[in-house]
Amino acid sequence: MIDCYIALGSNLEQPLLQVNEALHQIDAMTHSKLICSSSWYRSKAIGPGKQPDYINGVCKLSTELKPLNLLQALQNIEQQQGRTRSQRWAARTLDLDILLYGNQIINLPELEIPHPRMQQRNFVLYPLYEISGELTLPDQHSLQALLEHCTQTGLEKLS
Ligand code: ADP
Ligand code: MG
Repeated sequence: MIDCYIALGSNLEQPLLQVNEALHQIDAMTHSKLICSSSWYRSKAIGPGKQPDYINGVCKLSTELKPLNLLQALQNIEQQQGRTRSQRWAARTLDLDILLYGNQIINLPELEIPHPRMQQRNFVLYPLYEISGELTLPDQHSLQALLEHCTQTGLEKLS
């Protein structure tokens, strides 16, 4: 069993409902066990145009799935929740990204771990810190050190 961290995000179609449903589906995944999850956070959308705020969070999973099989399983959940919703919008009902897979570094066209943009994203680092404050990334950077360079601007922890 390998410890993994997954980032969840949604800014469409009742985002809080979407991420809670996704967490439920992750908990139900075969060959895996959900260990814990962070609070939910509200964050300002980045990217072009006017977009609704995001709801973000992170969960920890213990899994026997190989990295690409885990990606597939998460994409199945994304599709299940995406398909029942409006297709017209560019923003998404659900985004599930693999942040870390044990201490492994993976550089495939379809899968990069650690997630290449996690180190700058406060909506990833803050919830991650909440559930695993002592975490060290495969490049030996501590999560604590990354957080010191990451403002909480635009990020609000929900009660
Ligand atoms: P993004 O999350 O970057 O906004 P998508 O969710 O549409 O975009 O994902 C695009 C592609 O990113 C996926 O098809 C997947 O193959 C790839 N990808 C690369 N690394 C990862 C990762 N660590 N977790 C999830 N998807 C990843
Ligand atoms: Mg994604």
